Amino acid sequence: MMNDIEKVVYTKEELAACVKRLGQQISKDYAGKEIFAVGILKGAVIFFADLVRAIDVPVQLDFMAASSYGDSTQTSGTVKILKDLDFSVEGKHVLIIEDIIDSGLTLNYLLKNFKERKPASVKLCALLDKPERRKVEVKIDYSGFTVPDDFLVGYGLDYAEKYRNLPCIGILKKEIYS
Ligand code: 5GP
Ligand code: MG
Ligand code: MG
Repeated sequence: MMNDIEKVVYTKEELAACVKRLGQQISKDYAGKEIFAVGILKGAVIFFADLVRAIDVPVQLDFMAASSYGDSTQTSGTVKILKDLDFSVEGKHVLIIEDIIDSGLTLNYLLKNFKERKPASVKLCALLDKPERRKVEVKIDYSGFTVPDDFLVGYGLDYAEKYRNLPCIGILKKEIYS
């Protein structure tokens, strides 16, 4: 798999340090509260699993699957909820955990959708922020790294469902997807 990587952008160790920092910040901000963590499938699962273990307050786990991409590297602009939550978030402190905010279309849609469900609060934590590609504004409460406009894979991020299990994040060689 590493043969398909042009360049490693974040090593396993850098990702672990980032997760630790985010976990400490979140634990401090939510002290005395309980978090309802929502992982956005499938890209966020690896980050989600590491992050919830770095949080020092009670965390309830749930997942949602939304799609705006398909197998392509370009966004289609439409967001579909493919799998909804198992539980109600009414009165809960929701923390949405996402892999990357790119165009912002997915999270802009999901944040609006969540606010209608009457939670006590909604915040967003994204491992990666790619601001150059933003089409709609999204407020990221907890952000790991700001990245340039490269197509990244690994640590949950896929290309055609591949590379999610890479322990690092890297730039995919252009010849793989062009
Ligand atoms: P949006 O464009 O709606 O902000 O991002 C939607 C989804 O596109 C992200 O959650 C992520 O799954 C995928 N995506 C955006 N940028 C990249 C990237 O550089 N690499 C990969 N593998 N997926 C991406
Ligand atoms: Mg995602
Ligand atoms: Mg994908």
